[in-house]
Amino acid sequence: MVKIVYSAGLKCLEGYIVQVEADLSDGMPAMDLVGYLGSEVKEARERVRTAIKNSGYDMPLKRITLNLAPADIKKYGTGFDLAMAVGILKTLGVIPDRPTEDAVFLGELNLSGSVCPIRGVLPLVLHAMRAGFKRCYVPKENAVEAALVTQMEILPVSSLAELAEHLCTENRIAPIQNSDHAETLEDETCDLKYVHGQMIAKRGLEIAASGMHNVILFGEPGSGKSMLSKCIPSILPPMTMEEKLEVSSIYSVAGKLTGTAALIGKRPFVSVHHTVTDVALIGGGAYPRAGLAALAHKGVLFLDEMPEFKRSALEALRQPLEDRMIRISRNLGNFSYPADFMLVGAMNPCPCGAYPSASCSCTFVQRKKYLERLSKPLLDRIDLCIEVRNPSYEELNLSSLEEDSATVAKRVKAAMERQFCRFSKPRFNSQMDAQEIRGFCEPDEEGKKIMEKAFEKYRLSARGYHRILKVARTIADLDEKERIGADHLIEAIRFRNADLLKMV
Ligand SMILES: [Zn+2]
Repeated sequence: MVKIVYSAGLKCLEGYIVQVEADLSDGMPAMDLVGYLGSEVKEARERVRTAIKNSGYDMPLKRITLNLAPADIKKYGTGFDLAMAVGILKTLGVIPDRPTEDAVFLGELNLSGSVCPIRGVLPLVLHAMRAGFKRCYVPKENAVEAALVTQMEILPVSSLAELAEHLCTENRIAPIQNSDHAETLEDETCDLKYVHGQMIAKRGLEIAASGMHNVILFGEPGSGKSMLSKCIPSILPPMTMEEKLEVSSIYSVAGKLTGTAALIGKRPFVSVHHTVTDVALIGGGAYPRAGLAALAHKGVLFLDEMPEFKRSALEALRQPLEDRMIRISRNLGNFSYPADFMLVGAMNPCPCGAYPSASCSCTFVQRKKYLERLSKPLLDRIDLCIEVRNPSYEELNLSSLEEDSATVAKRVKAAMERQFCRFSKPRFNSQMDAQEIRGFCEPDEEGKKIMEKAFEKYRLSARGYHRILKVARTIADLDEKERIGADHLIEAIRFRNADLLKMV
């Protein structure tokens, strides 16, 4: 008689329910696993058999067949072990054949029969909930994370023997209470009130955050580029619960959620070192895993010393910047992770960092080469360029308090709401296409004259011209104006990234 137990698997962030069918028949003692399985799943044969034996149950001298359906999806990972063991114990009659069709079993078994944590529990449980299941048996270490899904009963399991006893007698394992306390805490040190001076840079960041524009900060080493960048998440509006679960799911799949702080509650700030490989940045591997760009989803991807990055790594970012998704093709099919981040780059004005002061020791050619490491197609995706200067003595010793991030965040939120209202959905000015720019970015009469002059003076390309209009649209939104005026355009022109190229 075939026994059925349910488990769940993941393809990137997308879940699917797996029906584990277990059958016991006469014949040569063996254990067969079928159902389009990856190598780790095939190895479950030895893990499950030994775990059952070491949990105190005798394996019969019979043929056991396990089928993992659906057979058309290739299954990876070790999370099906627990469901397979329960299926076998049911066919052996160890676990009474009470229906478990409203339950999903997740967890890896080790040889002693203990249940080990797995990756991706949060998206797995979310999917099980959407598929109509009522309870999930999960590894104890993953229980806090699983309990973020409030509509699901979560039962933490530490060993196969414990689970078998529970299923025989009912109610031995207590469901875990839903965890409101599991949120990661805000880092208090990253607040604009601790950054002295830098009025222009702060204004630039406020504009960038309001329209989710990608941005480059350039200035001497030590002028505060990194510190300013770290403050960006604090001026973005807090994530909704849906966004928090989506971001936490990515961290869960990447194995980066810790037991006690299971919910990523604040917007991510992912700082990338310039030695990063393309795979670490974008994701990859035989079975593609999420890279750093996906971990920055709904937050900031920060590239310090941007020209020092390998050209291939920077170029690999162009596609996610365009689609806000990372797509990886493999023989096994296409894999995708969401990667909707704000790109923030920081760079020195020249290799030694001192330009344009007289102490700069770089030659013209060295400077040119340094700046040329940023390709034009990449710069085309960066709307603002902000110069960060070393603060003056007076600025550093200002006794008056600086504006805090919360105050700026209110203005940013209001400007974002104007955009959502205009586009009738959550969409930002930085994402406007040519048609939307025509529709929403027409300057007033005075503004048109300014743009005409700027077009000739700076010999703007069509893309450069559109970038200025998009940024001006955000500035007008911050100013609560429906029409783009001359002041908005002048400020947008000041932040355009061609200034960076002009230095060459
Ligand atoms: Zn220099």
